[in-house]
Amino acid sequence: MSGSQSDEVAMTSQSCKIVIIGGGIAGLCAAIYARKCGYEVELLEQHHSPGGLAASWKRGDYTFETCLHWLLGSKPGGTLHAQWQEVCDIDSLSFVYAREYLRLEDEHGGSLSIYTDVERLERELLNAAPEDEIEIRHLAGAIRQLGDLPMPGLGEGWPQKALDLVRIMPDLPLLWRLSHISVEEYGQRFNHPLLRRFFGAGAMGHLSVLALIISLGWMSTGNAGYAIGGAQALIRLIAEKLTALGGRVRYDAKVERILVEDEAAVGVQLAGGEIVKADWVLSAADGHTTIYEMLGGKYRDRTVDAAYDNFETFPSYLQVSFGVARDLSDQPGYVTRVLNEPLEIDPQTALPDVSFRLFHFDPTFAPKGKTAVTCFLPTHNFSYWADLREHDPRAYQAEKHRVAEAVIAILERRMPGIGADIEITDISTPASVIRYTGSWKGSMEGWLMTPETGPKSLPLTLPGLRQFLRAGQWVQVGGGLPTGLMTARAAVQTMCRQDHILFSA
Ligand SMILES: Cc1cc2nc3c(=O)[nH]c(=O)nc-3n(C[C@H](O)[C@H](O)[C@H](O)COP(=O)(O)OP(=O)(O)OC[C@H]3O[C@@H](n4cnc5c(N)ncnc54)[C@H](O)[C@@H]3O)c2cc1C
Repeated sequence: MSGSQSDEVAMTSQSCKIVIIGGGIAGLCAAIYARKCGYEVELLEQHHSPGGLAASWKRGDYTFETCLHWLLGSKPGGTLHAQWQEVCDIDSLSFVYAREYLRLEDEHGGSLSIYTDVERLERELLNAAPEDEIEIRHLAGAIRQLGDLPMPGLGEGWPQKALDLVRIMPDLPLLWRLSHISVEEYGQRFNHPLLRRFFGAGAMGHLSVLALIISLGWMSTGNAGYAIGGAQALIRLIAEKLTALGGRVRYDAKVERILVEDEAAVGVQLAGGEIVKADWVLSAADGHTTIYEMLGGKYRDRTVDAAYDNFETFPSYLQVSFGVARDLSDQPGYVTRVLNEPLEIDPQTALPDVSFRLFHFDPTFAPKGKTAVTCFLPTHNFSYWADLREHDPRAYQAEKHRVAEAVIAILERRMPGIGADIEITDISTPASVIRYTGSWKGSMEGWLMTPETGPKSLPLTLPGLRQFLRAGQWVQVGGGLPTGLMTARAAVQTMCRQDHILFSA
């Protein structure tokens, strides 16, 4: 432990031990906060490395990122930046800020650029779709207004909550209006076909448009950059800090059961039978598995069940990744192609458009002169892929191959000859997501924020169970890396409050 980092650990709670289940962003952040407050920390991760959904993988000379598009809090002084500084030196990451966030294209030569600078975006949209002027002006106004929107302090006491409310008071009518419209409904306000399409349909059509407009706002103020090295660059920083603070991390340690005595969590049992005792258990693993399997469904009520019965989840996805022996830096970094014919992914899913990320902006992902390219294909039909993998491995491979070939054909139509430069093809499916992260239904991000849910928080505790907390994307609608940080912070605040320990971040 380095001197300066050991000084960060408050010597207030030496005898209390917390076991944290899951080494995704939420588990890692919870471990840091708990350690800083003086708890003995043991973090158990089923996989052989940290990150959960914040993942990337290496194939040959290429790294294929799955998670990071943008990270809220990248700008010093901006929303959430100070909280990231509590868990790592976020300023040591190199952030890049795309001028053109996304280019939408159809297969007839039409295209529309979504710029991060709101003035430029407004000009581009007015130029492309003068018939939509009124709605474009409303959109640009909303992006401007929400560019510095603060995040609520989840675990704070009433004085801070009241202060947060006062700060967002002027924005409340707009927030309320936008939170009650889905992206699909919002898109219908526009006549321009690509602009309509930008707001989405299909797997994420029910997403509240507030989520999309807030993220455009944060991009416009330069507080949502992409970190070179992807999400794993952030995860590595936090994991290293945890080790330096004296937190214990165990990989390949899958928790099967949370042990309960007298309606209080007292530890966990690992696959293989080992028992790890603790004064507190915090689950930052998948929410459904925690409640209905690790705890046997004993600690739930109508509110808990209602979420799992009624809330929508973000979809699962296939990712087709290519190592391309070509410098693609003259291309946009992110392209959505609206297809002439839908792409059939599985028996329930045909996609009208597909998105490519061309990672020429991240030199750590491919050798010089070459480019890592990924294609994201959302589907809710996770069971098709999981069943196929389990019961018919041959058909599973054939289906993966079919989808990859179809994606290459789409790329070929856009960049003729590119197929010959593809030296590596990698395909992951919802079965891969479930295997590596345990995320319920293979969901990429937990609960979808919809017009019905709004930005809802679920309780950090479970009914009838003491000494137990939860954190991560299953306790805050909307998911994402910031949710991991914020819910972890709030959970440790709750623990400290109960143990009469000063929360020290
Ligand atoms: C394609 C894609 C794009 C995304 N884009 C962005 C983006 O641009 N910006 C952004 O902020 N977010 C983005 N996200 C979302 C973000 O990655 C997730 O919301 C976030 O990483 C979830 O973190 P978590 O810690 O709550 O859960 P997870 O990452 O799911 O972590 C849970 C951990 O628990 C472990 N675990 C599960 N069961 C057990 C067990 N029984 N025992 C021990 N360990 C267990 C898992 O292995 C995992 O490591 C994206 C996600 C995807 C997939």
